[in-house]
Amino acid sequence: MSNKLLVIGESRDGSLRNVTFEAIATGKKINTDAEIVGVLCGDDVSNDQAQEMIYYGADRVITVNHENLKTYTSEGYGQALMAVINEESPDGIVMGHTSVGKDLTPKLASKLGSGLISDAVDMEVDGDTVAFIRPIYSGKAFEKKVITNGVTFITIRPNNIPMLERDESRSGDVSSKEVDITDIKTIIKDVVRKAADGVDLSEANVIVAGGRGVKSEEGFKPLYELADILGGAVGASRGACDAEYCDYSLQIGQTGKVVTPDLYIAVGISGAIQHLAGMSNSKVIVAINKDAESNIFNVADYGIVGDLFDIVPQLIEEIKKY
Ligand code: FAD
Repeated sequence: MSNKLLVIGESRDGSLRNVTFEAIATGKKINTDAEIVGVLCGDDVSNDQAQEMIYYGADRVITVNHENLKTYTSEGYGQALMAVINEESPDGIVMGHTSVGKDLTPKLASKLGSGLISDAVDMEVDGDTVAFIRPIYSGKAFEKKVITNGVTFITIRPNNIPMLERDESRSGDVSSKEVDITDIKTIIKDVVRKAADGVDLSEANVIVAGGRGVKSEEGFKPLYELADILGGAVGASRGACDAEYCDYSLQIGQTGKVVTPDLYIAVGISGAIQHLAGMSNSKVIVAINKDAESNIFNVADYGIVGDLFDIVPQLIEEIKKY
């Protein structure tokens, strides 16, 4: 049974990502009595961020600040985290299955000589045994995995394991750790990001995704309107990205983002297996497609057979009434 669990937090644009809090909840689920130690790395980690981890269930938080941690590199973050891990000797480590988590955790696990269960979406606790459930074969099946010895090292898929209630009455120690991170071969000087408006796709509760059926960049505009009134984000199939109707950063699927929103509206998407790999675990799937035989209807909870150019504006009009 894990008595001390390290939760590696992640922030974006100065705010902690929700998956950080979901990782804390995962730690509590692994062992309600475990001490949850949050870790935050960066060049300017604030006390407020550390406090947020405590409000969401961490018992204490360690921050590592260094100018070479401004932007993520596996080398820099690896050094910082290994210093914390060596000092704390945790029984388990939990982190989000994000692009950083996917890159960083295999490296840390190999340094620790530990196993790693990645992309867990749920877990079953039976006494001292914790089995983690993760999708395999592009989401067509699930496997249960147990770590039998060594550090319980887990990454969790965002938006699957509910975070705990935020509780401002909680308190805990926040300490900073000095780590010398100068002996690294790569330093990212600048990240030039394309402007991305609105809700982060990987953490959105509602996604309106367009496919090749949307036919043009112009055709995506009503999808943005629909996503906007639902408080969601716009995604896309690779078909739509390849056709240059939208940016590849919106691609969902095997070679794109893996998402698990509460509501996924697939508009003019055929439902190729590679697309399903990225969205079939969404809680409710609505498909709009003019072809009743389209594969997307095999995974949809609600299907609308018809022309998307008629249906999407009607949907917008109806939802606006509420
Ligand atoms: P299409 O298959 O062309 O489907 C368009 C759909 O729109 C059709 O079902 C059609 O009936 C419908 N439609 C057309 N007009 C209308 C209308 N007016 N109203 C309503 N419906 C309409 N794909 C991904 O999405 N994500 C991935 O990560 C991904 N990775 C891949 C990796 C590999 C190695 C390979 C080989 C492929 C990958 N693909 C991926 C591509 C995938 O195989 C499909 O080609 C792609 O998903 C198809 O996109 P689509 O559904 O938008 O287009």
